[in-house]
Amino acid sequence: MSEQIKFFQNVQTYVDQAAGFTKLPKGLIEQIKVCNAVYQINFPVKIKDQIKVIEAYRVQHSHHRLPTKGGIRYSDMVNQDEVMALAALMTYKCAVVNVPFGGAKGGIRINPKEYTQEELERITRRYTFELIKKGFIGPSQDVPAPDYGTGEREMSWIADTYIQFNQQDLNASACVTGKPIGQGGVHGRTEATGRGIFYGLRHACSFADDMKKIGLTAGIEGKTVIVQGFGNVGFHAAKVLEENGAVIVGIAEYEGGLYNPKGIDIDDLKKYQIENRTIRNYPKAKFIKQSNLLMEEACDILIPAALENQITKDNADRIKAKIIGEGANGPITPQAEAILLKKGVMIIPDMYLNAGGVTVSYFEWLKNLSHVSFGRLDYRHQDNAYNKIVDLIEHNTGRKITKRERDSLHGAGELDIVRSGLEDTMVNSYENIRDILKRHKKMQSLRTAAYVDALEKIGVTYLQMGVFP
Ligand code: GLU
Repeated sequence: MSEQIKFFQNVQTYVDQAAGFTKLPKGLIEQIKVCNAVYQINFPVKIKDQIKVIEAYRVQHSHHRLPTKGGIRYSDMVNQDEVMALAALMTYKCAVVNVPFGGAKGGIRINPKEYTQEELERITRRYTFELIKKGFIGPSQDVPAPDYGTGEREMSWIADTYIQFNQQDLNASACVTGKPIGQGGVHGRTEATGRGIFYGLRHACSFADDMKKIGLTAGIEGKTVIVQGFGNVGFHAAKVLEENGAVIVGIAEYEGGLYNPKGIDIDDLKKYQIENRTIRNYPKAKFIKQSNLLMEEACDILIPAALENQITKDNADRIKAKIIGEGANGPITPQAEAILLKKGVMIIPDMYLNAGGVTVSYFEWLKNLSHVSFGRLDYRHQDNAYNKIVDLIEHNTGRKITKRERDSLHGAGELDIVRSGLEDTMVNSYENIRDILKRHKKMQSLRTAAYVDALEKIGVTYLQMGVFP
């Protein structure tokens, strides 16, 4: 069995490692672990005058809270095991960051690069229709979002298809998140996973005693970083880290990697990638053909932000990073984790570190249900209040306040509010799991702490519902 096939089992292994630290009954742990509903669909789509059978999935891992929530992936590696594992991770992720959803995930087994925009639209709309037929989508049932191979464009097609079939539902646009702003999206959703990774890493690096244990000093400034994956997640994580003083020495993509010990200019590389549709031959860094070798270069922080099973027992021993921040879902296998922990590597787990995406999806869902954008009602009021205070200070001190100083105090707009909610979520959740790790002498990893946190929260919900008398 390949590692890919074992992905769901890997998640179960992590749960089992944590279960012993909780007081939850065994049967309840078993109920939490299983996928509540698995829906496999095969549907026909007309592609260039031929009929093509498309294989797709939606898995709802846990109904302990509704709606269920999680992205939809387009990749030719999609299979039932993968979608089940990713759905399960969504359940634990939502619990860790206190987002009141159960976990779900969807996938369509296609390589989106092989289809035209029109064909992708046909596939997406048909898939949405199949979900509607079985109640696998809806603002109160199951709410998809972007994932690997999908983005705003696909979410927009999904929203439009759902709304056409549910015109009496005032809240229909909350059936999916990650939509374009004009379709009910929220500012800051696209960058959310990457920015959340930054907030999480910055907070983890702020504890001088934790950093000392791995031979580092506190703070994100000057830390060297290698990012695997330069898609939405990897790009935004690298960009915000760079803006805050980290040095991005390596970027690995499926087609090869780039290395420059002095740092890679992230915006400049993105521009190059968009213009040339590749990062190959980028003149300002060394090109490394076998991109997985780039992950083995020396750095302070390694961020796998592409796909699962990237660090396995075969390469774990050669990883030199002191901190691994899991931007992707499931990038480290349990066997690899054991090797890394023995080496003293600090692993900041996926279910916490990449939860910024679903956190801001939650904000988008709230915005859609409330039918008003964040900040709309009180932006001007706050702005006026700040101006009055500044006028008073100016008057009382006799000093002219500069325009720059005045502009730095302004009412909170939607992006400010979203970023504030995201930062607060990432900081508080980290403190939670760090405390759990500190409380248990025998606990080895932040991952186990995060699972304990999630299991306890989910367990309490089940017990309060009275499912288990
Ligand atoms: N696909 C993202 C994830 O894996 C976001 C999910 C969502 O926003 O619902 O967390």
